[in-house]
Amino acid sequence: MSGSALPTTAVEITAAVKAGDVTAVETAEAALAAIEAGDGDVAAFVHVDRDAVLGHATRVDAKRAAGERLGPLAGVPVAIKDLICEEGQPCTCSSKMLADFRPPYSAHVSDLLLAADAVPTGRANMDEFAMGSSTENSAVKTTKNPWDLERAPGGSSGGSAAAVAAGFTPLAVGTDTGGSIRQPAAFCGITGLKPTYGRVSRYGLVAFASSLDQIGPMATTVADAALMLQAIAGHDARDATCLDEPVPDYLASLDEPLTGLRVGVCREHFVEGLDAEVSKAVLEAVEVYKSLGAEVVDVDLPHSKYSVATYYIIAPSEASSNLARYDGVHYGHRSEKFDPQNEDLVTFYERNRGEGFGDEVKRRILLGTFTLSAGYSDQYYNQSLKVRRLIKRDFVAAFEKCDVIASPATPTAAFKIGELVDDPLAMYLNDMYTIAANMAGIPALSLPCGFTAGGLPIGLQLSAGLLAEEKLLRAARMYEAATDWHTRRPA
Ligand code: GLN
Repeated sequence: MSGSALPTTAVEITAAVKAGDVTAVETAEAALAAIEAGDGDVAAFVHVDRDAVLGHATRVDAKRAAGERLGPLAGVPVAIKDLICEEGQPCTCSSKMLADFRPPYSAHVSDLLLAADAVPTGRANMDEFAMGSSTENSAVKTTKNPWDLERAPGGSSGGSAAAVAAGFTPLAVGTDTGGSIRQPAAFCGITGLKPTYGRVSRYGLVAFASSLDQIGPMATTVADAALMLQAIAGHDARDATCLDEPVPDYLASLDEPLTGLRVGVCREHFVEGLDAEVSKAVLEAVEVYKSLGAEVVDVDLPHSKYSVATYYIIAPSEASSNLARYDGVHYGHRSEKFDPQNEDLVTFYERNRGEGFGDEVKRRILLGTFTLSAGYSDQYYNQSLKVRRLIKRDFVAAFEKCDVIASPATPTAAFKIGELVDDPLAMYLNDMYTIAANMAGIPALSLPCGFTAGGLPIGLQLSAGLLAEEKLLRAARMYEAATDWHTRRPA
């Protein structure tokens, strides 16, 4: 395709590759060149294996040359968050603990991406073990927000979001335990979807909080997010929590507006702590829905205000258990210093873990060990599970009155790098709008709905009932089709 620009969305790329207008190798070369030119500034990737990327692309082109049918993501470069195993590639979780880990197998999602003829294009930076909201907890580097390099891209899937926003890859895989797809998507002006818990297999995903973790797509358009979800959703017997439910054709009906759409708005979302510009943009988005014929209804989510507090018991509890395996003997970083003559095994474990984990991960392990300890687990962990059930019940009631709930994705636009690092509570509050969906297991996405006066993107969060991704994506597409926020790119 010499002379004309390469297509930019996944939908366009895969159509062009199938038509023979561009090859997968040309597309991969373009992505690699963009990364080479821009990632020195953005720092979205922790590892890019040029040969592996070109190898995947060559295989796609060979398939086409042989007249074989190409998959739905043929030739599309995809950034992979560095906690999803890809055979032969590093999988460090941006932690010293796993600096040398190269998994001998691939995650189910990685297998599906290859089966769809996508081209995995590098390992995206993240907060260590997915704990954080800015990528500042990465032991490798801090990713910059492509809209303003002094600002955080959000987290923990900050590298994935920045890679897409910077135009390095049209798609990225992220994970979301309490907001880690939606918050960085909002900060970087892209679309990010956390599917229903169990919609996508977590086999080969390094676990953070197993009852909340979910893998999902990050993209510049709703159609691209739908395309990727289509490829990665579905049953996998290797993840016992993976749902055995049919995967609808998310793209087939995407452009059909929903007639009689009821958009729920919860007054409690528009309270103290919410930035005025964000509030205004989100309420204007609700007006857009009205102008498109939607009915706006008030919904109550009386227990959602407890979601951050509940999350910071449940997630660290599960993390403390999941991360117990990294002791330098079973898994993970092993200290150079070991003197078996003069010290016991516990001292050795302590040194391995002390050296391998960063401060935030240690904080979570301490919190979780405490909340699970004998005598306290009823008071904290089990109590939180009860509150979680109430949060869930509120959503069930709300979705009897509406189809989707519209809210801010984040309380503010992207903050400055360094601004919140010394204030964990303020950092945790970044997820005040996103965590409830993880608690309830429901799907939720963020898509661009405006910009601050300072030029930073603002995210609109839409959530829907269990397994209602089709409706959620269609509702998002209705808004996207009526606005042009998603077409803006950072300079
Ligand atoms: N920011 C939240 C945390 O630090 C959520 C992280 C996530 O979703 N992985 O735990």
